[in-house]
Amino acid sequence: MKTALIYSRVSTEEQAEEGKSFETQIKLCKKWAKDNDYQIQETYIDRGKSATTLNRPALQDLLAKCKDDIGIDAILVQDTDRLARNTLDHLTIKAILKKKKINIISVSQPMLDDSPEGNLIDTILASVNAFQSQITGRKVSKVLEEKAKMGWYPGGRPPLGYKNSENPNPTSTLDKRIVVFDPETSPYLKQMFEKYSTNSYSAQKLADWLNSKGVKSVNGGLLSHSTVHNYLSDTFYIGKFLWNDKEYVGKHEKLIDKELFNKVQELLCERNQNASRKRIHNFLLSGFVYCADCKSRFWAEKHTKKNNDTYEHYYCSKCKTGTYTDVGKLEKAVENIFQKIELSKEYTKKIMDSALAMIKDLRENTDIERRKLNIKKTQLEKALKELEDQRFVYKTINDEKYLSISARYEGDIKQIEIDLGRLTVDKSEKIKKLDKLLRLAENIGLAYKEAKPSLKRIYLKMFFEKFEVSKGKIVKYHLSKDIKELIENGSVRVKTTGLPL
Ligand SMILES: [Zn+2]
Repeated sequence: MKTALIYSRVSTEEQAEEGKSFETQIKLCKKWAKDNDYQIQETYIDRGKSATTLNRPALQDLLAKCKDDIGIDAILVQDTDRLARNTLDHLTIKAILKKKKINIISVSQPMLDDSPEGNLIDTILASVNAFQSQITGRKVSKVLEEKAKMGWYPGGRPPLGYKNSENPNPTSTLDKRIVVFDPETSPYLKQMFEKYSTNSYSAQKLADWLNSKGVKSVNGGLLSHSTVHNYLSDTFYIGKFLWNDKEYVGKHEKLIDKELFNKVQELLCERNQNASRKRIHNFLLSGFVYCADCKSRFWAEKHTKKNNDTYEHYYCSKCKTGTYTDVGKLEKAVENIFQKIELSKEYTKKIMDSALAMIKDLRENTDIERRKLNIKKTQLEKALKELEDQRFVYKTINDEKYLSISARYEGDIKQIEIDLGRLTVDKSEKIKKLDKLLRLAENIGLAYKEAKPSLKRIYLKMFFEKFEVSKGKIVKYHLSKDIKELIENGSVRVKTTGLPL
């Protein structure tokens, strides 16, 4: 039997409302638990608390319990709005609990519970969430963009051969830390370019040479041929740098001249012509492809031929001979299978509705945040005025103190102004992106095709358990448990052409 905790919340206004009492909530949860074979271990109640804050005693107790206890399978709530004020918060809590393999089940809202429907929506929303963390990253970068415009690399560690250092003559807070040569590694990096330009060294040979000289990667490890490859084509060494996909002319010193750099680029290009595309991720289908004959898992490998060409293939680790299949070919075949998956109209609508709810949340939250920022700004402006009075009217503080405090206030006000500007941009960008993603949800095949590798893996996991491969072709596919259920209830359809299930 599975174990569950019940969470129930009533706000002050709701206490009088019928059907919202915690007795009703708990009753519904208990009934659901009984019907679905769950044993209730404990019940948590927040009385007179609103969902706009996660700082609720019972909720905190519950989350603490989940963190320590390993025997809990689910949290039962009557409705998701008991737990969080919006879908995003809900999904966040859900993601936290998921790490502990605990599901949130809202007993009167099958859409967001751990049903196959809920999981598919999560999968689609995963791309929205991924997008949102990008946005958060950009917020930070807006401030750093100013630094980039000044000509100073605003990133973390500069590439090998350089290091961050205190600027002895800073002009503002932005150029307090600047990039300078690292005397220990820069001479070797320079030689690396020179050696490569003679066309008698491969990237691997250079990596070996650098390792033999004790040159460590920025993370302190051994250098690999791909790292060396990246350095060889990095314009940082000729005084430029990339920041947010834009190239800037840097103020840091050039390690090599443009002529040498261009020569190296030509050679890289020649050697690369037949090489396969760069693979940042691991092999996409790892863990999903199996041998149709012996049922063993396929492995993936990258080979470099004598002429430096590389090719990649999947193959059966047992049968080996006759199972080698080109990576691109097999991945394309999987893409084609995704084209066969269709969501029913009703189900697509359900997803659309939950997206609309998210957009509504987003609007409301943006308004709330804007109001909060404006209040903070007003407070700071008031404090600044009082400070001025203290200095110039009442003369209760000295110049030094006045300057240091007012600089801090002014900095905070400037940051709020930046945040306010960003809010509007973020909102419209999020909505645009959400809209686009949902269009893709209408067409899973396209969504898969256009997804980045990491998201492709999420889609793969959602839809498939595995693919069986024989003689370079997918001869059978196994759908995931969730999708099988969705097919049974008519939410999802797989166009059957040829392949047996
Ligand atoms: Zn085999």
